[in-house]
Amino acid sequence: MLAIDIEQENKEIINRYRKLLKLAKPVLKDGDAKIIKKAFYASLQAHKDMRRKSGEPYIYHPIAVAQIAVEEIGLGTTSIVAALLHDVVEDTHLELEDIQRDFGPKVTSIIDGLTKISGVFEHGSSQQAENFRKMVLTLSDDVRVVLIKLADRLHNMRTLDSMPREKQLKIASETIYLYAPLAHRLGLYAIKTELEDLYLKYTDTEKYFEIAGKIKQTKSARDKFIKDFIAPITENLEKADFKFEIKGRPKSIFSIWNKMKGHTSFEEIYDLFAIRVIVDSQPENEKADCWKIYSIITDSYKPNPDRLRDWVSTPKANGYESLHTTVMSNTGQWVEVQIRTKRMDEIAEKGYAAHWKYKETGSSNKEAGLEAWLGKVREIIEQHDSSALDFMDDFRQNFFRDEVYAFTPKGELKILPNGSTALDFAFEIHSHIGSHCLGAKVNQKLVPLSYIVKNGDQIEILTSSKQKPSEDWLKFVVTSKARAKIKDSLKEDKKKIAEEGKEIIQRKLEHLKLELNNETVQHLITFFNVKSSLDLYYNVAKGIIEVPDIKRFKESLEQKKFEKKEPETKLNNLTKPAQTIGKDTLLIGDDLAKIDYSFAKCCNPIPGDDVFGFVTVSEGIKIHRTNCPNAVELVSNFGYRVIKAKWNSQKELSFLTSLNIIGTDRVGIINDVTKVISNELRVNIRSITIDSNDGMFEGSLMLFVNDTRQLDTLITKLQAIPDIVSVTRSSV
Ligand code: MN
Repeated sequence: MLAIDIEQENKEIINRYRKLLKLAKPVLKDGDAKIIKKAFYASLQAHKDMRRKSGEPYIYHPIAVAQIAVEEIGLGTTSIVAALLHDVVEDTHLELEDIQRDFGPKVTSIIDGLTKISGVFEHGSSQQAENFRKMVLTLSDDVRVVLIKLADRLHNMRTLDSMPREKQLKIASETIYLYAPLAHRLGLYAIKTELEDLYLKYTDTEKYFEIAGKIKQTKSARDKFIKDFIAPITENLEKADFKFEIKGRPKSIFSIWNKMKGHTSFEEIYDLFAIRVIVDSQPENEKADCWKIYSIITDSYKPNPDRLRDWVSTPKANGYESLHTTVMSNTGQWVEVQIRTKRMDEIAEKGYAAHWKYKETGSSNKEAGLEAWLGKVREIIEQHDSSALDFMDDFRQNFFRDEVYAFTPKGELKILPNGSTALDFAFEIHSHIGSHCLGAKVNQKLVPLSYIVKNGDQIEILTSSKQKPSEDWLKFVVTSKARAKIKDSLKEDKKKIAEEGKEIIQRKLEHLKLELNNETVQHLITFFNVKSSLDLYYNVAKGIIEVPDIKRFKESLEQKKFEKKEPETKLNNLTKPAQTIGKDTLLIGDDLAKIDYSFAKCCNPIPGDDVFGFVTVSEGIKIHRTNCPNAVELVSNFGYRVIKAKWNSQKELSFLTSLNIIGTDRVGIINDVTKVISNELRVNIRSITIDSNDGMFEGSLMLFVNDTRQLDTLITKLQAIPDIVSVTRSSV
């Protein structure tokens, strides 16, 4: 073991702490330094016997996280204190009450939030989804929790070297799956880019260093190019009396890597870097200045008209403001130029916190975008009563994708996630308009509800009081607001219909001298294999469950009572009906209610499978697949109990089956899979478990399908998803 120079180490701790204080100085008010000092010593004391995997004193980590919070995110004293103490409740003897007593309620609630979400991804996928939900909940409570979490994650990624390989991969995958998109969403571009680059460093190390090396090699050539390129711009901007700064930066390793994945070589990627013009501008002149500079630049270089992006007039929902254009250089290369003011630049780099700093000084009226975004986060949280996994998918789908801008006939701007339809737009205006939406006119032309909104569309929604949401609508809405409202309305309809069903069944049962109580309802649910009493009543009202079926139900109840008394006669009882039907062959489907049979859990047969029936002692006839792992043993040892079985035409029955999916882990893949299953084929998912490691993921899906044909179609469609390697039906 290496001897540790404690004295040297203590000096280093103090140095790092002093550096933090120095960086924080501009944001400190009276008494703040004292609180930070108190937090630092509390943390130092609590972590005093702990070391990081690298062997360094643990306190380096909270200091570094606090430093990121102040230096790279622009947070203030409360956050610095919370960052210093972010791991103490989880990892040391200190309790929340101690924090409350010494640092007050604000810091306590932030640390409480951080502790609650600390286990994100630690255990399996539904737990991970649940934790993600918690994280988003805290996001709407106090966004600082998530900002500090991001600082924590960034420092862990920066120091990932000392972790064992499998941990590196796990942490890196989580980072690219959730943290980088979250950073992007909160407008923390610098952090997002660094997280992505670090992800690549640990998952495709070779490519990472290859690209980094090439960026370095080409630096002097690039610097010369940039110098020549900006010379006329600089000259003209100076003439026009602008105070400005021009930066020429290579794009991130990750984004170059992404482009190279499309089979482009490093040398072929033309826009390896972007030029950024940052102007010192008065608040009231910001927009005009940006456009003046655009005009000056395009005097020297021809712009590509297709590549103009104006996020100055309409900021992105995460608050990003900038004017982007791509121009042709004198040497025939396209160059991306970003024009923005100092304020816009700081917001682009540091995101959320910088945003609010400007809001406080009153120099901007552009924070509406981010505020609206957080408002939507709250809205979606309030609406959601479905599972955590659905929530995560929904959230990722809605908030991690780019947006599209469209206008109402009166010119009011609506921002929707990319891929939204006219129907989403209708719900965005008002849920009442959405619910009665008949169609839409886009730029004066009639379009269907499923029309996909494009940037700049002006959309007029046509409504009718007779119109109401239908099941089909769920196929082409993407916003969770629309989805939730449609589902609510369908549920309402179903409830009304079910009321009628309840009356019918009550009358029938009275007739059969049975009472409609909890116990009977439970028996009915099991007997008819439905999910809930609502489904039961609905099926009765719709005639899916008919009067004779209810009679059979009564018979089966009596049979059960009888069997309980004399279990030894069971086997005889059961073989008989099977023999009386269809010449020794059990027809599966029509006779569901006549014979006591069920599907074996070991192989979950579905219509179309080769099957046989097996007479069990206590559970009636079990239907197995002929290739069931237990078949050989059953047939060879108990041949006399085997009966032939084949599928008859079915009513709308669903069967549980399970699929194994293997693929390369990437952002959005789970979403792609569930979309194929539930949107395209409308198959119900019972459960999904996904495990990922080494950049691969393996998932097991339990689904309800009608027959092998549907299952085969599903497998083919799933196999067609990019990055899916194999899809197989489980043998058990
Ligand atoms: Mn930590």
